[in-house]
Amino acid sequence: MERERVIIIGSGAAGLTAALYTARGQLNPLVIVGSQMGGQIAITSEIENYPGFWDAENVPTGPELVEVMVKQAEHFGARMVYDEVLEVDFSNGSPFRIKTYGAEYEAEAVIVTAGASPHRLGVPGEEEFIGRGVSYCGTCDGFFFRGKDVVVVGGGDSAIEEGIFLTRFAKTVQVIHRRDELRAGATLQKRAFANEKISFTWDTAVEGIGGNGVVQNVQTVNLKTGEAEERPIDGVFIFIGHYPNSKFLEGQVVMDEHGYIITDELMRTSVDGVFAAGEIQDPIYRQVSTSVGQGAAAAMQAEKWLSGRE
Ligand code: NAP
Repeated sequence: MERERVIIIGSGAAGLTAALYTARGQLNPLVIVGSQMGGQIAITSEIENYPGFWDAENVPTGPELVEVMVKQAEHFGARMVYDEVLEVDFSNGSPFRIKTYGAEYEAEAVIVTAGASPHRLGVPGEEEFIGRGVSYCGTCDGFFFRGKDVVVVGGGDSAIEEGIFLTRFAKTVQVIHRRDELRAGATLQKRAFANEKISFTWDTAVEGIGGNGVVQNVQTVNLKTGEAEERPIDGVFIFIGHYPNSKFLEGQVVMDEHGYIITDELMRTSVDGVFAAGEIQDPIYRQVSTSVGQGAAAAMQAEKWLSGRE
């Protein structure tokens, strides 16, 4: 069994920042990357609201930001292992036990930054057509829809931002939203309303996705009139929020009813020596910049906690 001073579970904005700070604190951190290096940043298009990057020439894409964050953390001594955590045992306190597909570890301190994943719509056809017309990531899959007609489901920042991004490829982008106003911020709304390729269908739910091998239509229902419709379409992009990736922590740390880890202002979880940062404990802000701040804070507290034991 390998023994570490600090293990960081997850490699999104919070995890990579915690890696940077603990590496600079000479803790030789090990990052268990998870299924996607960079987490949700890696599947984001341009990041226009991360401080320091403001003009069109200078705005990084998600993958570009991940690349420099990883390089920076590694430069100071962080190690990345491309593996996923299967289970943890925090029941006996530090050292904590962590089992991945490839190894078992002991860690004196743990920082959990496993992030969040997109919600499924839960309608017939959705699972069947994932990767064949159903997608949760415009940045990843937009390219496959050049000249095609696509639907975007949702009315939040993600739906509108990704919908705008998709207009680079798609012929038309139909936003289908269950209410008659968007939740997305004013700037994004303004840009979407001004975009000729984007149309809006209000008060409408997608109730099914159909096709033959690939997506060919969506079934919708107007929630006010009850009118049902089948629309021919090539792709369905679903952006209806996220859930925390905390299943492997069930029974180990205290969570809220939605599975978000409960932390205090020092990023401490209910287990002494286990800290959490980023979207796995933050259902409210969910920005790269806030996750970065939380990751830095968790790392500083972990460092303090470890030095208090020496
Ligand atoms: P969100 O803000 O929770 O929005 C989810 C959207 O999906 C809402 O419009 C919601 O409708 C709709 N929805 C939820 N469940 C649904 C269902 N079962 N069927 C149909 N529609 C459903 O999620 P998000 O857009 O992923 O954003 C999450 C957080 O990240 C937010 O804090 C957001 O500000 C932030 N974010 C920021 C940026 C940016 O600043 N550029 C970009 C992306 C995300 P209702 O409106 O009716 O509830």
